[in-house]
Amino acid sequence: MSGDLDGPIETFDLLSNEVRLDILRTLGEAMAEDDAPLSFTDLQRRVGVEDNGRFNYHLTKLTDRLVAKREDGYELEPSGNNIYQSIVSGAYAEDGDTDPVPVDGERCPYCGADAAAWYADSQFHLGCRACENLVIRYPIPPASFDRNRPESLLAAGGAYILRDQAAMRQGICPYCAGEVESRLAEDGGKLEEFNERVYASVARFRCRRCSWSMHCGVPFALNIEPAVVSFFHDHDIEIFDRHPWSICQYAEDRVLSQDPWRVEVSCRVGDERLRLTVDGDVDVIESEIESAG
Ligand SMILES: [Zn+2]
Ligand SMILES: [Zn+2]
Repeated sequence: MSGDLDGPIETFDLLSNEVRLDILRTLGEAMAEDDAPLSFTDLQRRVGVEDNGRFNYHLTKLTDRLVAKREDGYELEPSGNNIYQSIVSGAYAEDGDTDPVPVDGERCPYCGADAAAWYADSQFHLGCRACENLVIRYPIPPASFDRNRPESLLAAGGAYILRDQAAMRQGICPYCAGEVESRLAEDGGKLEEFNERVYASVARFRCRRCSWSMHCGVPFALNIEPAVVSFFHDHDIEIFDRHPWSICQYAEDRVLSQDPWRVEVSCRVGDERLRLTVDGDVDVIESEIESAG
């Protein structure tokens, strides 16, 4: 077995115990309340294990790798905090699917029926229940929204997509901080599997280190490009106040050449048009605003 896995295996082994998970959660909560570090006695009382020897045994197992012992008590190491964050975000929670909820003011781009959002297979979905086309499918943690408030699913889906787009446009993986490869591709691949549209070009973002990836139409990849944000701002449309997918309704794309790749994206608002040219690395190499006439 690869030596690279020894560390993770030991860490996962450490976590397969209820008392140790309780210690991590208790220390995480204390840090969130700005109440850390916790003394041995306080931590033991909060975790609720009476047997000193047994509690000390589990705490010692965690110490150094996930928990730091300071002069004034115990707190999470950054590695322990990462695990606590995964627990509270619900990454390991049981996920239930939700019923579709209508999305205010949005229609299916394929058949015109009301668009809907739902959660299934650990993924946020935006699409149409009438013609079954999808606009977006993207993994978000099951605890990132409140099942009693359907609108919170939309907010969570939008927030995760926006956050991940901001990281990927900087070339950084939002999940492991690895390097992200960005490129245009001819093959719509996964995108064409879930909607009827045929894509002349698709923007693909892929982490070189972990398994994270995002495939999208070229206009969607440019959502938070400075030229796009400022163009919409000049027309009183604040991109960051909207759902990330709502800007695409203003945009069209056209392949100018494939060797080298040049795709033109144009957005029209009122009597002005923003025209952007994108290269094979999904970088904007030209932009101009013209009268749409
Ligand atoms: Zn439809
Ligand atoms: Zn990654």
